[in-house]
Amino acid sequence: MTRKKIVAGNWKMNLDYAEGVSLFSEIVNMVRDEKKGDQIAIICSPYIHLNSLAQLGGTTVKIGAQNCHQNESGAYTGEISAKMIKSVGCEYVIIGHSERRQYFAENDALLAQKTTIALANGLTPIFCIGETLDERNNGSYFEVLKSQLDHGIFGLDATDFSKLVIAYEPVWAIGTGLTATSDQAQEVHAYIRKEIAIKYGQEIADATSILYGGSANPKNAAELFAQPDIDGGLIGGASLKSRDFVDIVK
Ligand code: PGA
Repeated sequence: MTRKKIVAGNWKMNLDYAEGVSLFSEIVNMVRDEKKGDQIAIICSPYIHLNSLAQLGGTTVKIGAQNCHQNESGAYTGEISAKMIKSVGCEYVIIGHSERRQYFAENDALLAQKTTIALANGLTPIFCIGETLDERNNGSYFEVLKSQLDHGIFGLDATDFSKLVIAYEPVWAIGTGLTATSDQAQEVHAYIRKEIAIKYGQEIADATSILYGGSANPKNAAELFAQPDIDGGLIGGASLKSRDFVDIVK
């Protein structure tokens, strides 16, 4: 079973408009020469860049948002809907990043709503799950991940579920320079795939792309991505440098 190989950059709250357009143009030009076959490269930028990047990216680099609101439209000052994101040519949206869970109190019930509205508007959610350092150290990480799956996305029917991309991002590895070892990451990815198989069947489990995120960089990407259940990465810091991002794609 071949799964989509995906490298997605997450710029977080970095880069003003001109900086973002310039970095993205570099990335597109470099990725064009490096991307093989059906690999997918995605940049998830702040909202202000999305429209311009979607025009520049064409089929070479796809565009994603980093969040969306859970409602269709209405009196939610300062918010952006899935429909608006889709309307500028964006195809993906990160949902449930640990920074949103931590700093904006986003819980699984809310994230389930966001996932549903993203799918209803034709966006592909990149749904993030991951344990904290305490949860890793006290051995409860499988339970934590299972609960995030159960309450975040396992309520979807099989048709909708099969449109998702999942990202495993151990919170202790995000932006810390600590990376899960390839064995640690593989163990969790295999676990996630097993749980998907139990819930939705082996065929859907085998077709679901599960990305690793957390201090992935050009040095460790090859070993991580060589693991049988790791289908690519969600890249924070290293996506802010064109060479690093493209080396990871390579
Ligand atoms: P990092 O971030 O690569 O800087 O650790 C990953 C992420 O938060 O998506």
